[in-house]
Amino acid sequence: MSSRRDFLQKLSIGIGAAAFTPVTSKASIFSGFQRPGKQLRVALMGLGGYANIVARAMTDCKLAVLKGIVTGTPSKIPAWQKNYNIPDKNVYNYNTVHQIANNPDIDLVYITTPNSLHHQHVLQIAATGKHVLCEKPLADNAQQAREMIAACKNAGVRFYVGYRLHFEPHTRELIRMRREGAFGKIMHVNNYMGFRIGDPAQWRLRKALAGGGAMMDVGIYALNGARYATGEEPMWVTAQETKTDKVKFAEVDETVTFQLGFPGGALASCGTTYNFNNYERLYVIGDKGFAELSPAFGYGPIAGRTHLGPMNQPEITHQTAQMDGLADCILNGTPDPAMTAEEGLKDMVIIDAVYESIRKNGEKIFL
Ligand code: NDP
Repeated sequence: MSSRRDFLQKLSIGIGAAAFTPVTSKASIFSGFQRPGKQLRVALMGLGGYANIVARAMTDCKLAVLKGIVTGTPSKIPAWQKNYNIPDKNVYNYNTVHQIANNPDIDLVYITTPNSLHHQHVLQIAATGKHVLCEKPLADNAQQAREMIAACKNAGVRFYVGYRLHFEPHTRELIRMRREGAFGKIMHVNNYMGFRIGDPAQWRLRKALAGGGAMMDVGIYALNGARYATGEEPMWVTAQETKTDKVKFAEVDETVTFQLGFPGGALASCGTTYNFNNYERLYVIGDKGFAELSPAFGYGPIAGRTHLGPMNQPEITHQTAQMDGLADCILNGTPDPAMTAEEGLKDMVIIDAVYESIRKNGEKIFL
């Protein structure tokens, strides 16, 4: 742990000049970046649990390919190089990653580090002129997210958030049906997502690395789901928190409920937790029909039904679909999915309001 801390301290000093130097020449190369018939070459930054899932899933990709790694743990490098055929010249640590600017083998860096590092890592990658995909939650708060979006815009690079469900077939079918009016006027949404978290020493329970607790980590699925189930942006938020284990959850939220009011009149009633299992569902009902996904937000299989019967969408590996889908957007100019950083920012604004409402004993926060 102490070596990690020393390393981060050095990093925060080290990234200064390199990270914030604008690379306008790179930016112009990437504007209008389209390479039909080619692959999107990806480097993963932060080789933890999720990066391993993404890397395995990418072995089935057609349009995206894993070409590089960024890690602060040298002992991880040999296995990654061997498993994914990564040459020495495409291996970086957090101090050398600015050199990726000069590496023509990498088009996009996928940031899979702890939440509170996303801000500094996105600024660092934007400055290299490479496209950025950053895991959820985009940042600790909306202000950071805005700074990250501005940095990517200034550098002329694309910036996405890892909302893999926007490439998941049940989710896409639900959105299609809602758009085409199959549910009629949307009246109500009831979404929840949570789990019982293990190891009390993990970063997810440390505010300095996680930014927040269940709400930031998995409540965001219920929230994002309320936005795609209604197709609207909420006008107000109310929220409540209960903490049944004040020791384990001393720094972050444990169980949160939140309500959203939408312009069309729909109400969403949502929940999230870090303290119990079997809590995962999306339910949307309108005056003509409904859809229920349960499970709704995990890696799958996702299961669903609507007023018309069972949803028979294929089961896929979300991360394979996400990476090929994004590659198609960037390489071939297909329309962006709802995975742009601006979508991540919209959720951060609402999460800020959820925490504000909790701080103010459930007061209604207008957006
Ligand atoms: P892990 O702890 O498993 O991995 C994080 C990695 O980040 C570490 O292995 C390490 O890699 C690197 N890192 C850099 N600095 C630190 C630090 N100070 N402390 C700990 N790790 C550090 O986390 P996850 O992979 O589970 O989560 C990473 C991100 O991915 C989070 O933002 C999370 O919300 C998101 N996520 C998204 C999911 C999705 O379905 N979209 C699912 C799971 C997670 P190295 O040693 O190589 O430097």
